[in-house]
Amino acid sequence: MKPSDRLHIVKGSITRLTTDAIVNAANNQLRAGSGVCGAIHSAAGPMLQTECMKIGWCPTGQSVITDAYNLPCKKVIHTVGPDLRPWAADKLAESPERLLASCYDTAISLAKANGLKSIAFPCISTGVYMYPKSEAARIAYDTIMHRLSTDYDGEVTVCCFTDDDLESYRQLTD
Ligand code: ADP
Repeated sequence: MKPSDRLHIVKGSITRLTTDAIVNAANNQLRAGSGVCGAIHSAAGPMLQTECMKIGWCPTGQSVITDAYNLPCKKVIHTVGPDLRPWAADKLAESPERLLASCYDTAISLAKANGLKSIAFPCISTGVYMYPKSEAARIAYDTIMHRLSTDYDGEVTVCCFTDDDLESYRQLTD
């Protein structure tokens, strides 16, 4: 199948998807928070937080993998997007663009390393972390398409929660 046929854009809650892996837009401490992170933790149940606390920390732009507990997917890959809120953006070690691309890259690498044939992403950093939506969509799209064209032979879903996010992806894929 062509790489572009293995990219799917859907709208809804990522917690309902039955892909092998779903990605959580996590924070460095891997604590259950608000937004998609809160939704994933409440659907998975408290054992997810227990496993995350054992891991303890994930640097910005990197990803870690856990079990999925009560979620319908097999694994959760937690990635930490760049935080562009004014008081946090100055502390980033690299450019926001490189860090955001690295989230998609490292998550796909973990899926591949764990034999996971399908992975679904939320629109990382575009909520509380304030990354501009259309720019984030372009970085996500470029990074995902690069991996689908080179070394990941699985399927990738982008799960949009808002109409704004969906519109950003439609502009890239239409
Ligand atoms: P971040 O801190 O990385 O910005 P947020 O959870 O605040 O994380 O937002 C990331 C994206 O996830 C936003 O586009 C938001 O609309 C979306 N989102 C929120 N809840 C869900 C959900 N249940 N499923 C998929 N996406 C969601």
